[in-house]
Amino acid sequence: MCSTSAAPQVTTSASIVRVVLDVPLDREFDYLNPGLVIKVGNRVVVPFAGRQLVGIVMALVNETDIPLPKLKAVLQVFDDVPLDAASFKLLRFCADYYHYPFGQTVLSSLPLRLRQIKPAVSRKMWLYHLAQAVPDALIGKRQQVLARLLALLQQHAECSEAMLAAVSATWRKALQPLLDGGYVSRREVIATRPSMPASAQVPELNDEQAAAVEAILGRLHGFQPWLLFGITGSGKTEVYIRLLEKVLADPQSQVLIMVPEINLTPQLESRFRSRLSEYALVTLHSHLSESERLQNWQAAQSGAARIVIGTRLSVFTPMPHLKLMILDEEHDSSYKQQDGMRYHARDVALVRAKQHGVPVVLGSATPSLESWYNATGDQEHAGGRKPIYRLLTLNKRAVAQATLPRIFCIDTAHPPPEAGLTPLLKQAIEQRLQRGEQSLLFINRRGYAPVLHCSACQWLADCRRCSAKAVLHLRQRVLRCHHCGDEQPIPLQCPSCGNPDLRPVGQATQRIEETLQQVFPQARVARVDRDTIQAKDALTTLLSEVHAGEIDILVGTQMLAKGHDFANLTLVGVLDTDSALYSPDYRASERLFAQLMQVAGRAGRGEKPGEVLIQTAFPQHPLFTALREQNYAEFAQALLQERMAMQFPPATYIAVMKAEATEYALVNQFLTEFSLAARAYVDQHAATLPDQPLIYDPVRPGLARLNRMERGYVMMQSAHRNALQQLLQVAVAWVRAHPLQAKIRWVLDVDALEY
Ligand code: ADP
Ligand code: ZN
Ligand code: ZN
Repeated sequence: MCSTSAAPQVTTSASIVRVVLDVPLDREFDYLNPGLVIKVGNRVVVPFAGRQLVGIVMALVNETDIPLPKLKAVLQVFDDVPLDAASFKLLRFCADYYHYPFGQTVLSSLPLRLRQIKPAVSRKMWLYHLAQAVPDALIGKRQQVLARLLALLQQHAECSEAMLAAVSATWRKALQPLLDGGYVSRREVIATRPSMPASAQVPELNDEQAAAVEAILGRLHGFQPWLLFGITGSGKTEVYIRLLEKVLADPQSQVLIMVPEINLTPQLESRFRSRLSEYALVTLHSHLSESERLQNWQAAQSGAARIVIGTRLSVFTPMPHLKLMILDEEHDSSYKQQDGMRYHARDVALVRAKQHGVPVVLGSATPSLESWYNATGDQEHAGGRKPIYRLLTLNKRAVAQATLPRIFCIDTAHPPPEAGLTPLLKQAIEQRLQRGEQSLLFINRRGYAPVLHCSACQWLADCRRCSAKAVLHLRQRVLRCHHCGDEQPIPLQCPSCGNPDLRPVGQATQRIEETLQQVFPQARVARVDRDTIQAKDALTTLLSEVHAGEIDILVGTQMLAKGHDFANLTLVGVLDTDSALYSPDYRASERLFAQLMQVAGRAGRGEKPGEVLIQTAFPQHPLFTALREQNYAEFAQALLQERMAMQFPPATYIAVMKAEATEYALVNQFLTEFSLAARAYVDQHAATLPDQPLIYDPVRPGLARLNRMERGYVMMQSAHRNALQQLLQVAVAWVRAHPLQAKIRWVLDVDALEY
């Protein structure tokens, strides 16, 4: 498919150009080359169904099945960012594995600007310097501008464009002959924003860190996955920095670092910038403007950026000198893409590392069970699976004085909380206020109250479009659905019985914030959730206020749980997480444990010890026992045994065919036929398949209706990845040919996390 790599085949003859497009058809399209210079990997503009589309050239061929008179011509070619063979190989794998059209896979991996019909001009920045003495004869008498530019270049080792532009607006034109003559040279610079005034102090590694660094550095050449299992504050980031120092010392090297959320990039970015300031670093995430994104992407693709920090999509960024990949917080479910191609960036990173023959480090305090299984193997069954990853453990907090916080449960049965807060928790907050320390209250629900209730007839406010409750947002005076975003006014009286006394029930961030303000009028309270943190820098601003001691109590959702390092924060209170304890979703306890570990990890990171208080009606629950002991390994092992017994992932592989339509009857008919066809295939191929995948009957998800669409799914499961993949290939072809597929929306979710 993409055999031409290092030396792309160039043709100027009128041959045929085979391209992929961003259309939901899993095939390539042929066009005539009207005599343009076109290379494999180029972007081209072609006519398609009455429109013009950007395509990527996959091959240059001499034959096509299309009759020549019908063949349309390529309209334009942009030789700006040719995709390389390595990128094609990774994208091909993903298209195959996730059963997604290859053209859409390729185009959706590119920055938006490259999917648009225009050349990818990005503003490059250059530094100019004098390469050799300029003969006087070259500077004519009337060339005053040039003379002044030269004077400036003589004074400084390097001059930026801004410095030169200050001399004259015509500096480019004046300088050009000297550039052409080799008297002046320039080098491209990657825009580096000034780093935060972080202390660039270099700590001495403790034994565990040193052992981890040494182990990884000992195997830099070749594919090797590592699971860096280190409790919060154990100094994983310091380990990453040491690895980078070593790897980047080779000028032909680049490192890709992935983080689950944009909110985590600024901190990591500033730490890396202050410690690795000599290396060009770019970030890639959705808070960048499209032109910044393109520029950073190009810097990675050209090899100029040595460090790339990005969220899940950055896993596809072409990096010619990639030598190491790091995924921080590898357990985080935001690595899974939830629309379009539903890839998991961690899994794609593993494939990429293998294709490139480089190490990949997965870091977490609470590894996903998938990674845990890969790192520990099956310890219970004789002859069970052997570990595939190497496990490195950091058990101690890195800062000498910092110890792990103590974790307690507060039984909400007696005495019950008032307005969401138990007396014990209030006391603990009061103590912190008196000592001038900070507290964090974690509640994973934004808004004012999760439900609005009529006590006369038991009416509850529902979303008009989903089978879900509408959340009360008192400040904005709306009922808002957190699934579809629909907003409706708060009714003045019960729509069902006319009772004017409608009450908010339950707790969410706004309401807790209000309560805290009433109970502790002198305290400075701040709320952090998706409603307050919409602007790009809002979180950064708020975090610096916390660091500056301008805030006493923080109330927030999981946004606060990760990565932040607050030295003066000594109390974490956890409100209302009980619903996850007995959730029908088998992943709920894994997620809850990770979340609580993360949020607990915010306390006691400085010299003062931390305390975590969890309000729950089930203080004896095994999850809390494990959490109190902060023994993730044991908890993970127990969960893993459960998954083995139940044959859930990671003991098996799953794929989910999801469908939705305005009527459930259609969905049901489609899914029923689908599961029958899939079973028929499995039965017919029982002899040749490495395993017989299980195919379940269609069912409805917890959220049965979303945005006026009735939903259903069919789960497929097998202990063999290949058996499942063989089935999926046939199943997707079956769906694409099915008459109902035009009337419903369907998506195949391989390794689905949610359904
Ligand atoms: P993690 O990424 O595992 O949560 P960090 O790398 O952020 O942990 O480290 C936590 C804190 O400990 C940071 O303030 C960091 O500067 C500090 N730190 C890391 N390693 C050491 C060390 N070897 N000695 C002293 N302090 C360290
Ligand atoms: Zn009512
Ligand atoms: Zn809704």
